[in-house]
Amino acid sequence: MSSSVLHPAPALDSNHQPLLDWLASQHEAMCALLERIVNIDSCSKDEAGVRQVATVLRERLEAAGIAVQTLAQPGWGDCLLATLPGSHAAAGGHIQLMGHMDTVFPAGTVAERPFTVRDGRAYGPGVADMKSGLVLNVFVAEALARFGGNASPVQLLFTCDEEVGSPVCRTLIRERSQGARAVLNAEPGRISGNVVNQRKGSTRIEFEVLGVAAHAGINPAQGASAIAALAHKTLALHALTDSQPGVTLNVGFVQAGMAANVVAPQALAHLDLRYTAETDMDALMAQITTIIEAESLPRTSGRILAQTGTLPMAKTPDALLALYQRSAAQLGFAVEGEFTGGAADSGITSSMGIPSLCALGPVGGYPHSEREFCDLSTFVPRAQAMALTVIGLE
Ligand SMILES: [Zn+2]
Repeated sequence: MSSSVLHPAPALDSNHQPLLDWLASQHEAMCALLERIVNIDSCSKDEAGVRQVATVLRERLEAAGIAVQTLAQPGWGDCLLATLPGSHAAAGGHIQLMGHMDTVFPAGTVAERPFTVRDGRAYGPGVADMKSGLVLNVFVAEALARFGGNASPVQLLFTCDEEVGSPVCRTLIRERSQGARAVLNAEPGRISGNVVNQRKGSTRIEFEVLGVAAHAGINPAQGASAIAALAHKTLALHALTDSQPGVTLNVGFVQAGMAANVVAPQALAHLDLRYTAETDMDALMAQITTIIEAESLPRTSGRILAQTGTLPMAKTPDALLALYQRSAAQLGFAVEGEFTGGAADSGITSSMGIPSLCALGPVGGYPHSEREFCDLSTFVPRAQAMALTVIGLE
């Protein structure tokens, strides 16, 4: 099925041809900037690395005459906020382009496998998720600064803690998105080429199970095994998968016990929970808490130690997806909206009621792994589609 059939492309507005041509001429420059920032390790909490990425992007934006503010996030690095005025006072607020500068890869990864290109695909830590999206946003902003066309003000917000659930930047995202008419997030385009119009939310719950230690040979009956209790809880938690549409649970990490000959006094576990914007979270969390805190076996107990998460992204309003699809169709490619279980910062803005569309960055694959790649041939067309979408939001 082709979107160009669903949405017949209107004649290209020739006013925007210089902007599109300029973006088309920037392929090499986009790849060069991508190489520079991929070759800086910037794991979440790597303050120095995140700052270095921010500095490179800031310099590029400022050289294009764009006003940039650096917002220091002690312990995490910097966020960047760049603003472009609109051509006329449009009602309905600004358009926000978003991205995150942190990656999941620890310091030293660049030394092991720096930026490389093979067969039109770029490789390296964070190349798709989401350094290519940051570069795309920067070039779209520069194109708009040079050629105009955006009626509404445009704001770029680059954050530094998305990969760990945005504990610090979620407040900043809320503040800066207030009143926005749309959020366009440049997470990597899906391997299919599609964009994302709905995302699950995720919650990570760390919990502890306590039992009673005893010698496994001499007096096992005096013990109460935290490992056995955790096993019961794990099965009960997993059984909540599909208890509501789109809900999944996975105990994906456990650490427990002392030695084979000791009834385990303690166990630690991490639960990953995925849900949708429609999930009744109060009811679900009550069920989860009951299971964790239950005395699953006599003389054992459990409690939640920590909980972090990312909000789900509600379905993008059809009009915004259709605008992006029309923009893509004008440029000769077709995209559909896709639902994904992966969470992103677009969940924060969509929970505020702001129309949000995600995965508008260059097409990429296998994020968070050594196989991660960015399809460089999609750099220019997706930057052009983003620019036309911003212009189309008159
Ligand atoms: Zn990402």
